[in-house]
Amino acid sequence: MSQLKSLRGTFDLLPHQASRWQMVESLARDHLRRSGFVEIRTPLLEPTDLFRRGIGEETDVVGKEMYTFLDRGDRSCTLRPEGTASVVRAVLQHGLLNQGTQRLWYCGPMFRYERPQAGRQRQFHQIGAECFGLDSARSDAETISIAWNFLYSLGLKNLVLEINTLGSLDDRARYKSALVSWLESHYEQLDDDSKKRLKTNPLRILDSKNSAVKEILLNAPTLSDYLCIESTDRFNALKLILKALNIPFKVNPCLVRGLDYYSHTAFEIISNDLGAQATVCGGGRYDGLVEQLGGPKTPAIGWAIGLERLLILIGDSLPSVTPPDIYFVNRGEKAEIEALVLVNRLRNANFAVELDSSGASFGKQFRRADRSGAIWALVMGDEEVVRGEVQIKRLRSLENCNTPELSCSSTDLDRLLTILSN
Ligand code: ATP
Ligand code: MG
Repeated sequence: MSQLKSLRGTFDLLPHQASRWQMVESLARDHLRRSGFVEIRTPLLEPTDLFRRGIGEETDVVGKEMYTFLDRGDRSCTLRPEGTASVVRAVLQHGLLNQGTQRLWYCGPMFRYERPQAGRQRQFHQIGAECFGLDSARSDAETISIAWNFLYSLGLKNLVLEINTLGSLDDRARYKSALVSWLESHYEQLDDDSKKRLKTNPLRILDSKNSAVKEILLNAPTLSDYLCIESTDRFNALKLILKALNIPFKVNPCLVRGLDYYSHTAFEIISNDLGAQATVCGGGRYDGLVEQLGGPKTPAIGWAIGLERLLILIGDSLPSVTPPDIYFVNRGEKAEIEALVLVNRLRNANFAVELDSSGASFGKQFRRADRSGAIWALVMGDEEVVRGEVQIKRLRSLENCNTPELSCSSTDLDRLLTILSN
């Protein structure tokens, strides 16, 4: 019978990778807690309309990348391609906006039918943060700094923060018509994708990955020429605060979000170490989205970090497997039962214990104990059972000095715990 494999673009997270993920997730959780954010968990499956309205029909994500199907009750369902729309739905559904400013974070898998390559999967993971109810440039800077400081705290180098302003709705409407007429006069030089976007979502052409199109765009009108005074002042204020926070940034006028509910600040954190999929974090202000999804007018800003790309960047700088505290060497009919009894007590006392269950020779078990990375080996054979003892051997010592082997009564848990805690 042929062997079944995981779907293209989806991956198993094997034990040696999972512990790294756990570490990054717990660092993120802690960082977000300290930053005043609380977690929200929403379903992986949502009504398709949520994304049609919340991301926009004309985007790649909704137009080409969603996993959408009819359930048994003929309802159109979609595996979430991103987190923001779901968070807005949940916030509205449960009336959280009536309770003042909301600072929420989420973490979990997202699904997009894309062409898989390094740093681009069909099931991938994001950690995201969303802030509802604040509209100042200072809140933009704070939100950006939370993402930046998190990545920085992981020891990542070669990060670049790119920012742009999309201005207000009016600014963008004026700019859009200027851009469209300019692009129409360069129509023949555009690639097919951009020609299509010229009709559906012209601002997204600025985001083109096609190098010929990028070249042409160098001479296109820029949004900054169409900003009103308030929008310009707001962007200048953001830059000043980022400087005060010592966060280096680059203004990238091509950094856009194509939809009407985005406004003012857009940003990405990019790494020079990631090759083609260089963006590790994307975010921005979406003051119109809550209203678009049926809620009251509410300013909002957020970001999402792609965990797979982040893990590529971190590479081997975090340990891949956390070693146990104790490796338990045991052999003999009675010893194996006594050892299991003691192992359970030690685990209940918060020690991570790996029990050798092989029944192999002591020599083989000791070699495995050494390889396990444990600090202690406990040893129990039938001789120890007769004496009512367990042998304690320190495998790793911080000061590089050898600790003598000790033995301890196997029923004197207090003494054993005292020795193992040193
Ligand atoms: P890209 O331009 O790389 O497709 P995007 O604009 O579609 O990114 P966002 O929707 O802003 O990405 O998502 C935020 C982050 O999630 C990205 O910066 C990236 O790190 C990660 N991400 C997005 N799509 C994928 C994917 N298919 N596989 C892995 N990570 C992804
Ligand atoms: Mg994408």
